Amino acid sequence: RTRVLTGITTSGTPHLGNYAGAIRPAIVASRDAGTESFYFLADLHALIKVTDPARVQRSTLEIAATWLACGLEPEKVWFYRQSDIPEIPELTWLLTCVAGKGILNRAHAYKAAVDRNRAESEDDDAGVTAGLFMYPVLMAADILAFNANKVPVGRDQVQHIEMARDFGQRFNHLYGEHFTLPEAVIEAQVATLPGLDGRKMSKSYDNTIPLFAPPATLRKLIMSIVTDSTEPGVPKDPDSSNLFALYQAFASEDETAAMRRAFADGIAWGDAKQSLFERIDAEVAPMRERYEALIAKPAEIEAILRDGARRVRETHVTPFVTRLREAVGLRDLS
Ligand code: ATP
Repeated sequence: RTRVLTGITTSGTPHLGNYAGAIRPAIVASRDAGTESFYFLADLHALIKVTDPARVQRSTLEIAATWLACGLEPEKVWFYRQSDIPEIPELTWLLTCVAGKGILNRAHAYKAAVDRNRAESEDDDAGVTAGLFMYPVLMAADILAFNANKVPVGRDQVQHIEMARDFGQRFNHLYGEHFTLPEAVIEAQVATLPGLDGRKMSKSYDNTIPLFAPPATLRKLIMSIVTDSTEPGVPKDPDSSNLFALYQAFASEDETAAMRRAFADGIAWGDAKQSLFERIDAEVAPMRERYEALIAKPAEIEAILRDGARRVRETHVTPFVTRLREAVGLRDLS
């Protein structure tokens, strides 16, 4: 079976972009009998950006409850928290020792930080942690630890999958064919959702619409989306509109076509926002109810996560990393 792996960083409250871009397609894909799905809460990744322990913990709970509320069936898939798998940081080190530093220099997140520093005439590496620099190696370990074949990602992540292939290939070349090289799958129909300010909706920008905000909050946030000052009655361009991009991610083809016509007819922004609210609320409401019931029982979520980690370690990671330790000349701990 094809192994598909999806992770979400536990850096904040899950938002509409996480849902439309990652959670919804991953759950649909997991129902395909030819697929073996791996879902994880990327809390080691969260530490790169978040230094507030309470935020990491809260986010872990919220993201776990979100997956479950959206229909993930923990007994049918592999569902775990990254930091419950000690073999992941161990594999990260094995890969660090074959990863080219020059390749890491070119990673987007690191390069963006360097470019910002240069623009402000700062030292290249001012404020850059080794964690940010090494992030692609941790991500490679997440993927290679399970010999995942496919990793659905946004366009910005394709480079990191290429890096995982590169490190895996180099390891295979030195130590024998241990790793399957992963492929990035870009969900062509899922656009990157814009946030309230028009930039990519992202937990780190604080510009998100939380997936399970109560209806009144959801409506208020949608009403606050920045639009231009086009008056009602004046035609509006759907393709440059954040509002339309969000609508499209939640509407059927017919509804989207109708909204496109409404834009051409000069729909008032307030009316477009109201339709967007109704569309999103209709999709989210049943899941929101399950989410609220789940989040009230953190001990149950915790038990599901621990059980998931135990099973995935026993079945996949521990025997595999034992083999890798041997391959590089370390002692067998088992
Ligand atoms: P952070 O700011 O902490 O990186 P994030 O909210 O940008 O968080 P991640 O947790 O890194 O998101 O990503 C989880 C998944 O959600 C990824 O598959 C990513 O492609 C998807 N995703 C995140 N933001 C969006 C968005 N605005 N539109 C579509 N998909 C998104």
